Amino acid sequence: MKILDRAVEDSVAPGAKPRPGQAMMLKDLVEAMLDDGHGQAQAEGPTGVGKSFVYLTVAAAAMAARSERSVVSTESLALQAQIVDKDAPVIAAACEAVTGFRPQFAVLKGWSNYVCTQATVDSANDMLDRLGRTGDAEPKALSRKFDKAVADKGKMLFGEQKERADVLAWALRQAVGAGDPRVTGDKNAYPGNMNDSMTWDSVSVSSADCIGADRCVFADECLPRAAKARAAEADVVVTNHHLLAVQAANDVPVVIGSKTLGEFHHVFVDEGHGLPQIVRSQGAVEISSRAVLSLARAVGKVLDDRETSVKNWMDAGAGVAQYVNEDLKEKAQRIGGRDTVLRLGEGQEPLESSFAVVDRWLTEAVEMLKRAAKSNSAPAAEIGLKRARGRVEGMKSALDLVSEHKPGAARWVEVVTPHPRATDQTKYPVVRYTPVDVAGMIRRSLWTREMTEEELEAVGWSEQSAPVEEESSAPEGPKPRVPLTSAVLSATMPPGFGRQVGIRAPLRKYPSPFDSAYGSSVLFVPRAVDQADLQALGSSAYGKFKFDTAKHRAWALRHMIDLVEANGGSALILAATASSGKEYAAALKSAARGRWDVLSQWDGVALRKQVAAWKADRASVMVGTRSLMTGVDAAGDTCTLVVVDRPARAASNPVDDARVEALVANADMDKWAADRFCYVSDASLLLEQSAGRLIRKVSDSGMLAVLDPRLLKAGPFSYPEPTRRMYLDTLHRFETKISVPEAAHQWLRNQQARHAGAQAS
Ligand code: SF4
Repeated sequence: MKILDRAVEDSVAPGAKPRPGQAMMLKDLVEAMLDDGHGQAQAEGPTGVGKSFVYLTVAAAAMAARSERSVVSTESLALQAQIVDKDAPVIAAACEAVTGFRPQFAVLKGWSNYVCTQATVDSANDMLDRLGRTGDAEPKALSRKFDKAVADKGKMLFGEQKERADVLAWALRQAVGAGDPRVTGDKNAYPGNMNDSMTWDSVSVSSADCIGADRCVFADECLPRAAKARAAEADVVVTNHHLLAVQAANDVPVVIGSKTLGEFHHVFVDEGHGLPQIVRSQGAVEISSRAVLSLARAVGKVLDDRETSVKNWMDAGAGVAQYVNEDLKEKAQRIGGRDTVLRLGEGQEPLESSFAVVDRWLTEAVEMLKRAAKSNSAPAAEIGLKRARGRVEGMKSALDLVSEHKPGAARWVEVVTPHPRATDQTKYPVVRYTPVDVAGMIRRSLWTREMTEEELEAVGWSEQSAPVEEESSAPEGPKPRVPLTSAVLSATMPPGFGRQVGIRAPLRKYPSPFDSAYGSSVLFVPRAVDQADLQALGSSAYGKFKFDTAKHRAWALRHMIDLVEANGGSALILAATASSGKEYAAALKSAARGRWDVLSQWDGVALRKQVAAWKADRASVMVGTRSLMTGVDAAGDTCTLVVVDRPARAASNPVDDARVEALVANADMDKWAADRFCYVSDASLLLEQSAGRLIRKVSDSGMLAVLDPRLLKAGPFSYPEPTRRMYLDTLHRFETKISVPEAAHQWLRNQQARHAGAQAS
């Protein structure tokens, strides 16, 4: 507690005390840590409570008192940077002042987030070749030649080529500076814009594609290796959910149990509500004719297509793609009615005619790539061959996953519309697989680790002591694992979240420091009771007069324009879908008549820049959808009005449908309860996060408008009561509620007058 006290004093003011929620959370996390070193905790700490100070304090204290290392994970690279650059130095200084020991913190990102010198040298030489200049094998000389060539011939480079040249020039300087602790080669440190995702690929490799320290001539100055080495030395490693998800989805020791990174004792997952979805995405795979053709091209690039076997294999690719397409097309034809996908169940084989053909074709590719790797030892070729082999093996395992029914996973066939910029605009069928129930994967991979050799020896475990299958002489049974202290924290937790991540500890909720700010703010939900509203919102379907979400868009827009007008701008508009958001942005721009700027996430400007411009201009209005519901932090007068058109319930989709089915089968829930548990609960979480955009500090106040009359009990369009309650529960912190539009407009005008008066005085 003394470390936290000191950190709060250092960061706030002398005499400042931790918030009540911080003190309570600290006690709970310490208890989890002391529970034989492997307790669990599930903490809901509202925004502003100061969670990061709490878990960093626990991690620092664990090292100072018990020499125990921790992993901290958060949702994004930006949050990772914020923890390491802003919060960790305060905690490290406080820990040193209290205990005399200064813990070391380090960031851990994926291998491909850092410049690979070998890939950069290869790509820069390729580009020089195309510019008609000679290259160099040594980064310093190459960097000079490259800069000169770009200065002389830069006019020949346009669009993606120009972007790639800029990134290569920067990456070469990073490679030259390797060894200087200020030079990290971190993608985040690149000062320019990168619009083409292929650009970064030209200067980086994944850990699987790296040719290895024993083979690489740049291994001593390798930037990804240096980053990993810093993490291995650190007491507290700050990583992101993506890396943890790679570990959980593939059951490989990327972080926990990694021999290079060393032993960890505690795991703290901040913004943990996002983890299951990231694990699902990480485990998702697909097969289509386009994927087959793209793989054929990638393999063809690294093999010598003058060789007969390679040529034959590539020619066969078109036939294999055709087989896959015909198989999937036949399944896609069964999609009908209101369905947009064909879910696959037990015994349903999406590639029944083509499986063997694809499998053979892929096996052949692996053999050719193995042979090529044996006969070609140039590092540049080796990276390309490894990349290609990784893709082939990835498709091989995808083929197995999409073909076999497994409980806890979803498989389906759907028809994909190509990206508008794609040259071929023909729609094509695809089969997809996604793990749905990921609790077991998370529990096994992240909350426990395999015992080390010494620990195995200490408990007397050996390969022979494992249970042995009667018919087999091979030892069977997994090595024993050690549980870690596992704490999942979030500002908002969906109901029953512990079950999704395999945490048994009950959810603890901590008081918000923003109660008085919510007390001086209001929630506005417009009612729809008169005939005009009913006609504007409803339509008849199947003999029933029902709420029509398409018509609601125009109705919500009228309210939105009135509210923004009454507030004089200074608003954040959050749309349930991108298409409605674009429509709102266009209408609000024309309604503003130049009195305030209306910015949106569809203006073709990087979102980061757009949000910065909105925050810098008090009267401006920002329009966006899901990414702004969770990722915007504008305290003060910029954001005194947050408008949400309606809860962003996801459209029916195979993954969430499979989650619902799993709950009905395994958790003794009826279909409606399970549906609420998945779809409504996810939408509630987004609604709560959207509401949280309004109050970012104790002195904030304003209005949250949710333009969905179904939230009100009165009127013909109410949500089913359990759903309505679930949504309203997320908004319970607003004490004052308004449903009459004129009263809402007046409240906003009064607020603006108060703000103007405060500024004048
Ligand atoms: S060791 Fe791997 S990542 Fe490092 S420079 Fe060489 S190829 Fe690139």
